[in-house]
Amino acid sequence: ELGLETDDKTALSEKFRERIEAKKDKCPPHVLQVIEEELTKLQLLEASSSEFNVTRNYLDWLTVLPWGNYSNENFDVHHAQQILDEDHYGLSDVKERILEFIAVGKLRGTSQGKIICLSGPPGVGKTSIGRSIARALNRQFYRFSVGGLADVAEIKGHRRTYVGAMPGKMVQCLKSVGTANPLVLIDEIDKLGRGHSGDPASALLELLDPEQNINFLDHYLDVPIDLSKVLFVCTANVIDTIPNPLLDRMEIISIAGYITDEKMHIARDYLEKNTREACGIKPEQVEVTDAALLALIENYCREAGVRNLQKQIEKIYRKIALQLVRQGVSNEPALEAVIVTPSVEPTDGGSATIVKDEKLNDPAVKDPEEAKEPSLKETLVTEPALSTDTLSTPEGNKDTDGVKEEAADKAVKKVLIDSSNLDDFVGKPVFHAERIYEQTPVGVVMGLAWTSMGGSTLYIETTKVEEGEGKGALVMTGQLGDVMKESAQIAHTVSRAILRDKEPDNKFFADSKLHLHVPAGATPKDGPSAGCTMITSMLSLAMGKPARKDLAMTGEVTLTGRILPIGGVKEKAIAARRSSIKTIIFPAANKRDFDELADNVKEGLEVHFVDTYSEIYKLAFQNETETS
Ligand code: ADP
Repeated sequence: ELGLETDDKTALSEKFRERIEAKKDKCPPHVLQVIEEELTKLQLLEASSSEFNVTRNYLDWLTVLPWGNYSNENFDVHHAQQILDEDHYGLSDVKERILEFIAVGKLRGTSQGKIICLSGPPGVGKTSIGRSIARALNRQFYRFSVGGLADVAEIKGHRRTYVGAMPGKMVQCLKSVGTANPLVLIDEIDKLGRGHSGDPASALLELLDPEQNINFLDHYLDVPIDLSKVLFVCTANVIDTIPNPLLDRMEIISIAGYITDEKMHIARDYLEKNTREACGIKPEQVEVTDAALLALIENYCREAGVRNLQKQIEKIYRKIALQLVRQGVSNEPALEAVIVTPSVEPTDGGSATIVKDEKLNDPAVKDPEEAKEPSLKETLVTEPALSTDTLSTPEGNKDTDGVKEEAADKAVKKVLIDSSNLDDFVGKPVFHAERIYEQTPVGVVMGLAWTSMGGSTLYIETTKVEEGEGKGALVMTGQLGDVMKESAQIAHTVSRAILRDKEPDNKFFADSKLHLHVPAGATPKDGPSAGCTMITSMLSLAMGKPARKDLAMTGEVTLTGRILPIGGVKEKAIAARRSSIKTIIFPAANKRDFDELADNVKEGLEVHFVDTYSEIYKLAFQNETETS
């Protein structure tokens, strides 16, 4: 027993030496030196001392990191494009940007670390595209979320002397992926917390900045590590809350959300397929019609992303699975069908038909397509028992194949989902039309809003509370924030000026107390972009004229009636389409943003770009009278 302790120590040192021996050529010399020093120290320390444990853990981390071990990057642009298309529908800007990155890598022969930030509402595929990029580039993938992170030590690690000290997330990442050039996805970077001791944002800066992260120093590791080959992808819902110095170094790619048409494609080609496989249902056992999908998207899943859509589709498929299993119990499957089949098509003997039916009912064979693979076709086995696993149809016999398929379908009842029975699967529609009014009455105008969840339409309503000499005033309700309240005041003033100009005798604003409300009352709202909508609403009330039908507008106004640009043009355009708005008014300064949108978003919308309120006045009130 006396000799055991030293043996233990030697065994330990041996282990570490062995580990580092394999990496010796690639490991930077300063690290080797530190390891050597620590190994010597280990020999001198008492095995029961706490110092010994600290040193042992430290050596463990130092030797396990993938020093200089890079995964072979794939710079094949076609391959990458194929993978990106395979995983995601649309998102062409994002894909284009990734391909550019790969192309540069190919020409230079090595790729550089970069920070890409994907911003957009929840469920638009930010995280999953990060995973795809890693796959396309053949890099390892590591994801960590910094939402609410307040402790700098999470990023930079603890000092070794603390009890339970751990290195930071990046070192843990390198250990777990085993290569020095992974793709690291930093989720929710806009929700970074604020620490009481140190600022995580600044620590992230050191981690992300390509200038600094060549020598990233983790407190625990205490030797600089090179993170310059790591590709960082961040995700955020909004970019306003990302600390500026961080934002400065990122390349923002925004994903605005999907329109109905895009959602249809995503649902059909991606979500449905994945869910079906996940539920173990075969394509021939179910049919969801286009009408059903459309109804699902329009009445249940209106939000910008597709996560909820995915949930609903999963719900449908789960219910189908239950139905199928229930049927399976009550119906008598395989053999009964066999009796029917020969009368339909007796060509090449019943045995193959039996096989086919059995195969369909056999959970071991997941995909009938798979079973039809050419390599398997050769292995024609005559014995039915064996053939359940290997056999498909006799080669070249396409006609019989088709007929048998038909016969097989009869055995397994197909579940059809149409817009008429959709309710049975997902319940009653959750969305009521966003439009409360077909034709907005006097004093009500539709505006366009933008939140981190995507765009939406909202109404601005104004009515008169009371009237009397000098009673002019404005009250506001609807959970408005300070900025929005101020913008209502501005709107009041501007409307007064405009009315004075248009109808000099009209004393409406001087003599009436107005009430402005923005439904829905429970949703907090803020921002200046409803300015022009408020003016229109007040003027409509003052003049007793409803605003033009199917019109929505957005734009900040100044006291002199100029229209300033707003954010979220694409989201707002999508929201307007959803509410079947025909005419939209945008600030002139946003024309460029709108022109850059995809054609399927712009299609069918009549958009006016305005510089001053008087142009809106013409569009909202005068066109109406002219046409009528
Ligand atoms: P986010 O990170 O933006 O909140 P996720 O990346 O988690 O959203 O995406 C939610 C789901 O939606 C994922 O299952 C993803 O595959 C799917 N998805 C989103 N966009 C697309 C798309 N364009 N094509 C196919 N699937 C998509």
